[in-house]
Amino acid sequence: MYNETRRAAWVEINLGALNDNYRAIRRIAPYSAVIAAVKADAYGHGAVKVSWELVKAGAEYLGVATLDEAAALRRAGVVTPLVLFSATPRGNVKDVLDLKVIPVISSYEDATLLSDMASALRGGKAADIFLAVETGMGRLGILFDNTGSAQIADIARLPGVNIAGIFSHLSAADDDDPSFTMDQINQFEKISASLAAMGIRPEIRTIANSAGVMRYPQSHYEAVRPGIALYGLYPARSMDDSAIDLSPVMSVRANIVLIRRVPAGFSVGYRHSYHTERESLIGVLPLGYGDGLPRVVSGKGRVIVNGVYAPLVGTITMDQAMVDLTDVPGVKEYDEAIVLGSDGTLSVTADEIAELSGTITYEATTRFGQRLPKVYKGAK
Ligand SMILES: *Cc1c(COP(=O)(O)O)cnc(C)c1O
Repeated sequence: MYNETRRAAWVEINLGALNDNYRAIRRIAPYSAVIAAVKADAYGHGAVKVSWELVKAGAEYLGVATLDEAAALRRAGVVTPLVLFSATPRGNVKDVLDLKVIPVISSYEDATLLSDMASALRGGKAADIFLAVETGMGRLGILFDNTGSAQIADIARLPGVNIAGIFSHLSAADDDDPSFTMDQINQFEKISASLAAMGIRPEIRTIANSAGVMRYPQSHYEAVRPGIALYGLYPARSMDDSAIDLSPVMSVRANIVLIRRVPAGFSVGYRHSYHTERESLIGVLPLGYGDGLPRVVSGKGRVIVNGVYAPLVGTITMDQAMVDLTDVPGVKEYDEAIVLGSDGTLSVTADEIAELSGTITYEATTRFGQRLPKVYKGAK
């Protein structure tokens, strides 16, 4: 139990596993720079700590989603180049320059705003941008038709911006059918070649997320952008047999703060959602859906206590959840329950929680990171 966090529930972050995952990625993409995705507080793992660790390990860039995330890293002293994966709000172009962020640019309009601002503030020193091109994500990027290529030619002529990279995003690299991804990669190749013919030859081409890194070596180019794989999780369940060995970085633990012996027919949870069938030991865990344990997991989820699984019973509430401990050997108050993580051969995986709650592992870890205190282990 961690008294300093004033909570008997916490997220544990294994920095050793983070380093191992980083090295595993580097091994399969040895010729590419790494733009490590640390957006959304590093998928719930804590962006500042995770960023420091990845920068120490050698990551050349960090990827954020908001200017606030960029500002938090700069305040913490991180000087590594930051790439802003989302569209820059048009009212905040100056912050891109102040924070030395590389924005991903999808329109001439946005490029002009930045170019004007850079020319005004930096006395002729152009700002680096990554030029986004649409290849099949349907989100950001210039559509590479006649108008699009004319726009790009105009952007290339702007005095205040420098096209440092060409950027696109794979949307289906975790799908077992490779056809859509191959088509995206082919489009990306063609666009890069057309840009080269126009005299636009940036040093960096980047399109690969974790699934691309793992499955499509031809998508690595000069920089890869892993996120979920750094955190030790596979982009899709069907990928956990892939060549690369990853270990989950996050686990979630709680002390059982109260255990009561109750009779058969006892009701547990809002709207008496569970009734004991026998005399039972019902424990209370001090975390709930406000901490990322999804309410829809009520009655379906489980935790690990003293080497066995124990079912969650009743509705998961905002701050607390109940667990049936009747069959747990020797259980006592303040024993530790593993809500996410493993103990020997037993494990409650992010995949399991994601599947029970109709989502993906990305959302599962991100939500656990929002309110629970974080404890870092294995820092080097
Ligand atoms: C989040 C993100 C990534 C990382 O994706 P993973 O699937 O977690 O590897 C890469 N690129 C962009 C633009 C992203 O937004």
